[in-house]
Amino acid sequence: MQVGKSGRTYVVCPLCGHAFGTAYAGTYVTIGREADLCPKIPGRPSDGARVIRNSVTMCPACSFAAGEPFDELDLTFDERYCIEERLKEDGLLKVFRKGQPPWLGFHAAEVCGKERSLKSRGLGDLCLRASWVCRKEKERPFESTFQLRALRHFMRALQEDALVGRELSVTTYLVGELNRRLGNHREALNWYVNAHRTTGGDPRVAWLDRLIDRQSKLAREQAA
Ligand SMILES: [Zn+2]
Repeated sequence: MQVGKSGRTYVVCPLCGHAFGTAYAGTYVTIGREADLCPKIPGRPSDGARVIRNSVTMCPACSFAAGEPFDELDLTFDERYCIEERLKEDGLLKVFRKGQPPWLGFHAAEVCGKERSLKSRGLGDLCLRASWVCRKEKERPFESTFQLRALRHFMRALQEDALVGRELSVTTYLVGELNRRLGNHREALNWYVNAHRTTGGDPRVAWLDRLIDRQSKLAREQAA
């Protein structure tokens, strides 16, 4: 369980220089996790969604977004140019910028992250968190959209990111779990087996082995 604080802070957009007040996530209280590792947060689901949303910051002027603190970002000239172009042309941002749906910051952070050459594991993480927010806010079609995007990034991460240890095990497990949630039960079962192989009975990830067993049973029932 994490205990802590959140609050407001002023930041300057590294892309357009706009200064604005924003909420920061800090740490927060959780009461366990769902099987796709979505934190269970006390209170209403929308309160939990807000806490998760605070893990990305989006500039209200130009839509630049990132999971990292803005003052730690140093964009190169080329990155700036490419990000500006991508943000201007992005279809979802064009349609949803005004309405500000709860997942928008994660989408924008993914768009910007690709131009900043973020690793696939990190891009997948942004999409996974977007899917959690959608679930808590009951945005079903968008939940699946982001689960599929997270799945693709995680698959690429397993091929390209040279993951090891706990990160390799958790990513492999999530490929299984996201497949299960998207209705690909047999595919999910194969990935749970792969995930189990990566843990090698390491007691530090015993919790993950238990989760793999439980979700495999569920996937087998669903596949039947
Ligand atoms: Zn900006």
